[in-house]
Amino acid sequence: MSSSTTPKIAVIGSGPAGCYLAQSLLRAVPGCELTVFDRLASPFGLVRYGVAADHQHTKAITRQFDRLFQHEAVRFAGGIEVGRDVSLAQLRELFDAVVIATGLTADRELGIPGAELPGVIGAGAITRALNAHPDAAAPLPELGSDVVVIGGGNVALDVLRFLVKDRAAYEGSDVADEALDAYLAAPAERVTLVSRSAAPDSKGDPQMLKELAALPRAVYTSPDPVEGGAGSQLDRAAAGRVAAIREMIAPDRPRGDGPEVTLRFGLTPLRVLGEHRAEGVEFASGDEVVVVPASSVVTAIGFAAHPDHAFAALTAAGAETGRVEPGLYRTGWAKRGPRGAIPENRACAKAVSDEIVADLADGSLSASPSTLGFDGLAAEVRDRAIGYEQWLRLDEHERSLAASDRVRRKLPDHDRMIDIARGA
Ligand SMILES: Cc1cc2nc3c(=O)[nH]c(=O)nc-3n(C[C@H](O)[C@H](O)[C@H](O)COP(=O)(O)OP(=O)(O)OC[C@H]3O[C@@H](n4cnc5c(N)ncnc54)[C@H](O)[C@@H]3O)c2cc1C
Repeated sequence: MSSSTTPKIAVIGSGPAGCYLAQSLLRAVPGCELTVFDRLASPFGLVRYGVAADHQHTKAITRQFDRLFQHEAVRFAGGIEVGRDVSLAQLRELFDAVVIATGLTADRELGIPGAELPGVIGAGAITRALNAHPDAAAPLPELGSDVVVIGGGNVALDVLRFLVKDRAAYEGSDVADEALDAYLAAPAERVTLVSRSAAPDSKGDPQMLKELAALPRAVYTSPDPVEGGAGSQLDRAAAGRVAAIREMIAPDRPRGDGPEVTLRFGLTPLRVLGEHRAEGVEFASGDEVVVVPASSVVTAIGFAAHPDHAFAALTAAGAETGRVEPGLYRTGWAKRGPRGAIPENRACAKAVSDEIVADLADGSLSASPSTLGFDGLAAEVRDRAIGYEQWLRLDEHERSLAASDRVRRKLPDHDRMIDIARGA
């Protein structure tokens, strides 16, 4: 394919969705040129900054994405925020197609009275602090002795695991030790995890519950029925959940010295109690009202577009298609909303790549000889972009800083990340 007919495609976001999309396009559109932008100097989105630090086996997916960035047709352009450093309109002029893969960063709001009180904390603030996200320059929020976690999905279970683990359990991780130490200096004494759904229908993966069952420190109980209703047929996941929860609350399970964890199912949050700070949460349980005292309330009920995000209006609509219009597409959480683990983004990206291929085939999208791609960006932007080789330098630096029981020590300061990447 000559350069005049080479489609130049910009992908905004280097999380799993952006990486899978670039992989699919490389296969489906031979000769295309891809630029993957990210506002951060590091690639991989939530794999680096969401996936829990003690789940290194999940973070290992980045090795597959490394191979993507080694491809000569793919450029990483880190440290460039679309909407601030360059506009979406500019990218659309310079590239034949633009794909939004910016994920969703804001914690979904609880939307009940009292939710705005200090002490009500989005799970994202905790997972970002534990992952040394440069946006979370603030230290880990203080949690106190009685933590209520609202949510029953995998992020809620990540938070619960963090609350019940001790320092030794982070061996081989890349946890931000400052955040971990701040918590372990005054760990929770009691944790209540509250799911709106009944136990079999709660959202967490059975595997994640089994992992919690195997942790030696926590003591789990549940006053709510854990089985399905009489005669109910449980599918495989629900049966796995019930089995794992039963294992957690088994009376003969050895008693640890960690927090006492109460698992609650089928409770709907009504309001957060407290005058100047969260002091408890009121829930509806059938016709009854249940009050759970709290020194802090962690909400893990999903994510949403940040209202200030440049493409908030284009994302998270749960759209059927990736195509916004020929030449502009979206994939990953930005397309589907905050649902699905890393592998689901692969199928999503493949479907969006197919849409792009179809648009190229029917002529609604074409490679224009006048699009300049990355080379058309202002020199100032091109010079600032962190390339893949520069990221590797930062990657190496972070690994070299790791203590002997850690695999990496992430730099939490974005300017410093950029300096190291540039070899300063
Ligand atoms: C706390 C947490 C833990 C999770 N743990 C797991 C797990 O253990 N296993 C699992 O399979 N899944 C897990 N997931 C789900 C998984 O992370 C998502 O499915 C996946 O990351 C979504 O991919 P994405 O590319 O759409 O978004 P993201 O991963 O969020 O990537 C979006 C990228 O876009 C960049 N970006 C945003 N705005 C701009 C802009 N304006 N300009 C340039 N770049 C921009 C961001 O910096 C980011 O790199 C977890 C999710 C969370 C929130």
